Amino acid sequence: MLELDEPTREALFRRFLDRDRERRRTLVDAPVARNEASVREWLGPSNPATALDSVMDALDDGIVPTDHPRYFGLFNSATTALGVLADAVASAWNPQLATRGHAAYPVAAEERVLAAIGERFGYARDEVRGTFTSGGGEANVTALLCALATRFPDWGERGVAALGTAPRVYASAEGHATVVRAARLAGLGSSAVRSIPVGADMRMKTSALADAMARDARDGAVPLLVVATAGTTSTGAIDPLPEIARLTERHRAWLHVDAAWGGLAALVPELATALAGIERADSITFDPHKAMSAPMGTGALLTRRDGALERVFAESTGYMPRDGARDPYARSFQWSRRFIGLRVLLPLAVHGWAGHADALRKKLALAERLRTGLRASGWKLVAETPLPIVCFVDGDRDDAKHLDAIARRVIASNGGWLPVPRLTNGARALRACVNNHRTGEADVDRLLDALNEARGIV
Ligand SMILES: *Cc1c(COP(=O)(O)O)cnc(C)c1O
Repeated sequence: MLELDEPTREALFRRFLDRDRERRRTLVDAPVARNEASVREWLGPSNPATALDSVMDALDDGIVPTDHPRYFGLFNSATTALGVLADAVASAWNPQLATRGHAAYPVAAEERVLAAIGERFGYARDEVRGTFTSGGGEANVTALLCALATRFPDWGERGVAALGTAPRVYASAEGHATVVRAARLAGLGSSAVRSIPVGADMRMKTSALADAMARDARDGAVPLLVVATAGTTSTGAIDPLPEIARLTERHRAWLHVDAAWGGLAALVPELATALAGIERADSITFDPHKAMSAPMGTGALLTRRDGALERVFAESTGYMPRDGARDPYARSFQWSRRFIGLRVLLPLAVHGWAGHADALRKKLALAERLRTGLRASGWKLVAETPLPIVCFVDGDRDDAKHLDAIARRVIASNGGWLPVPRLTNGARALRACVNNHRTGEADVDRLLDALNEARGIV
């Protein structure tokens, strides 16, 4: 029952390996956006090979393949062999990371990896606290809860009644929507979030932040948390971290840097200045599933505030270890938890930080190649950023209808997949993000050709 005999199991894993190899070999010529849901007749007792094949077939047809070399979309990445293996190993051993008592090695290993990531951001190794999360959304709400629990010691027991005031959260208008959602989840309501305007470069205007915080403080509200974004979703803008840090320190507010994707700048010294000031953050969101080619579901929340996570999450019960505060379940939204950190550890153990740095340098060079090619054919770059993301309009033509038509045409011609985000100033732009370490110069050139062809047709 629920078991396969050994030969069938072997053959099935072999089938997966063969198919995976074939898929990677042919992906470059496959459609970059087929995405049709064709649920086949497999929801009954079925031959294992048939069932597996039908799922893999349906996946080929039914997703935008974010690991396609010409997927220039949001911050999704292509996984690595070691990331996939890490997931398989974690599923096979299936350790329970709620407690050290059940998972001494995985818990210690995750702490090592989190400390190593924290160091990349300039935290001292022994001050790094944190937890692997399902992604940046979980990390951002965790940061807000840490800020609340630290600023209002009674909050854990009395909830919002303990606040006696209105805590305010600040994020740029280009900040991620999960910040507003976090405010709702925390019971503060979305109106607790002050949306701070951005300049033409899409970075937070610190003068506006200073005004908003001062106004709230004068009105008796508490400037609780500033979320600075390092790598906004639409354009990759990095908020001015040192100036924001100065303001948060003045107001004793918690500084959270949402570096879900943009944290990848910490992987190469040449981009280190882009993140200067991040070491002053009380907490940081970082998504290895965006920045380090890890499989989906790999996020992290780092903090250098000892005890902050425990103030939010620790519980003691009769069925968990007495000294539960040392255990991961006391620091995480999740209770039972999978060995998420292995997806970072195993690739790091083999490729090292140097391997990730090389991958990023390749992405940076390809983004530069794209910028050069676009400028040479009369496209206009907007909201430029040092990160491998390129936003542009068709010369003077920046109307949504025209840009949408170009994107549709480029996707239909299989030149690449790219979105047309709406920025908070109402402007639209085509957006190409190079975030796949398997993307090559030929893919960028094909995107350029497709763009140049599309603008003449639509
Ligand atoms: C993607 C993203 C998030 C949300 O992270 P998930 O991993 O999708 O949950 C938050 N903030 C920023 C800046 C992001 O790019």
